[in-house]
Amino acid sequence: MVMPFEEYDKVFASKVFTFTEDFNPYEINAKEIIKGGTGYDIKSKLPNEIEKSTVIDYSIYPKYNFSLQRFSDGCIRNCPFCLVREKEGYIKPVEPVELNPRSEYIYVLDNNFFANPEWRSAVKYLQEKKQPVMLSGVDVRIMDEEQAYALNTLKLKSGVHIAWDLPKIDLTERIQAMVKHVKAWKITCYVLVGFNSTLEEDLSRIYTLRRLGIKPFVQPYRDYENKRKPKQYEKDLARWANRSWLLKSMDFEDYSPRKGFKCGSYLK
Ligand code: SF4
Repeated sequence: MVMPFEEYDKVFASKVFTFTEDFNPYEINAKEIIKGGTGYDIKSKLPNEIEKSTVIDYSIYPKYNFSLQRFSDGCIRNCPFCLVREKEGYIKPVEPVELNPRSEYIYVLDNNFFANPEWRSAVKYLQEKKQPVMLSGVDVRIMDEEQAYALNTLKLKSGVHIAWDLPKIDLTERIQAMVKHVKAWKITCYVLVGFNSTLEEDLSRIYTLRRLGIKPFVQPYRDYENKRKPKQYEKDLARWANRSWLLKSMDFEDYSPRKGFKCGSYLK
């Protein structure tokens, strides 16, 4: 945390997206400012002693009542719309960091939690901490019975998030197997649209999820530099599918987002 009027020897600044607003260098009184993070330079790395440190100074975030945790870096996949592999490489286990002394729940930031070859010890760690857990990345394409069972043993703070981004891969059976162990209403499934799919493929994924009792969350594709703007069709699809009451009460074809317009027109 940088305080105004303080003088610093060195300040590390980061941003996630290239289009995130930049900081004002005149507001920071530092002899040296080092910029990093995906938004500045995807190849940039922190010095090893910071990168490998397991200490987090939560005293500068007094309002945080949760811990950030990570058991692995990188990913086994190389999805064409994602920068994780380019930035972090193939999946590798990492040492867990210290928890926030005021922690009431643990936010797990792994990109692909169950792809970590040491996922069993990560589950054991979380079970022993006895705090609710938020998981950011669960890969249903590799989920087997053992993993689904283990997931069910965790005290989940919010639901489980999975993704069905590539319509060419049919995940119906995988998801059916998962809901034997994890209740369907606890699962939200991201559905990427506008990247490499047709309208029929978008609807097929959404209707399958609806049939299985799983909440879809439609995400229109945005490129790294935020130059691409979602089409009207993608916005209408997201507006319909992401509102449970709309999704449950009608098909997309019958949804009328504007006076005199029905989404069935997109199918003609
Ligand atoms: S599985 Fe997720 S984290 Fe891994 S490359 Fe694909 S989108 Fe990125």
